[in-house]
Amino acid sequence: MIFSTPREFTPATKETGLSDASPLWFIFKKNELLVLQKDASDGLEIPNLKDPSELGINIGSQQLIGHYGDQPCYTALASDISEEHDSVIWSGLRALFGRLDDGLFSISGRAYQIADWYRTHRYCGHCGTKNTLQDSDRCLICPSCGQLHYPRVSPAVMVMIQKGDQFLLARSPHFIPGMYSALAGFAEPGETLEETVHREVYEEVGIRVKNIRYFASQPWPFPHSLMIAFHADYESGDINIDPTEIEDADWFSADKLPDRLPGQISISRKLIEATLHELKHH
Ligand SMILES: [Zn+2]
Repeated sequence: MIFSTPREFTPATKETGLSDASPLWFIFKKNELLVLQKDASDGLEIPNLKDPSELGINIGSQQLIGHYGDQPCYTALASDISEEHDSVIWSGLRALFGRLDDGLFSISGRAYQIADWYRTHRYCGHCGTKNTLQDSDRCLICPSCGQLHYPRVSPAVMVMIQKGDQFLLARSPHFIPGMYSALAGFAEPGETLEETVHREVYEEVGIRVKNIRYFASQPWPFPHSLMIAFHADYESGDINIDPTEIEDADWFSADKLPDRLPGQISISRKLIEATLHELKHH
């Protein structure tokens, strides 16, 4: 699954001093990652250098996120750019899907979440003192009041509702034309994921579901979601959409699919394909 950790990657927060391989640098400028154009191909690379200043890039503090094989991986924010090398490209993460090696693409998502957390938690939210990085853990600590600030992860559910050989897909107003996807929404504080599924489905399309089954999960670094996908069975009610969230919702089937499905990068596509596969083999 895209954005899941590649097998060769070992997360770490502390230098072990064991590897003398030159590091991979995941350097961000706002939401864009620094990548390098390979010679005469469409492929892109993550810089593999002793020091990013070789590319004319200065960074603020760097954080080790782990090792890819024996290569240390650092995430950092660009602080100022003196004379940028010709091969440097700044790109949003989504646009890198299929152009970076899959393992590096997944690590980029992780690097982005950590860089974004660091960028947005410079100061203590409790007393305003500048936070410092803790040695032992991936955590920022306030030296004044001791408040801890961990990286944020926001759980969101996705649900594929089945009714016989039909399944429910919906479109939000910001989707590209013709695209439908499974319902999704963020968990609220105090909810179980099953409660989130029931609430979101009822709020968005006005129906009741039962028999909720876990499908799979996917970190979604835009900026810090964890999408947890489920199958569920229709129980009762007619589709009655919430027009503030949804533009249209309908029952689809293998013979009646929307014009467009979500991209291969997303867990929604995997969920839809798994449902179609299951329907075909029953
Ligand atoms: Zn504080």
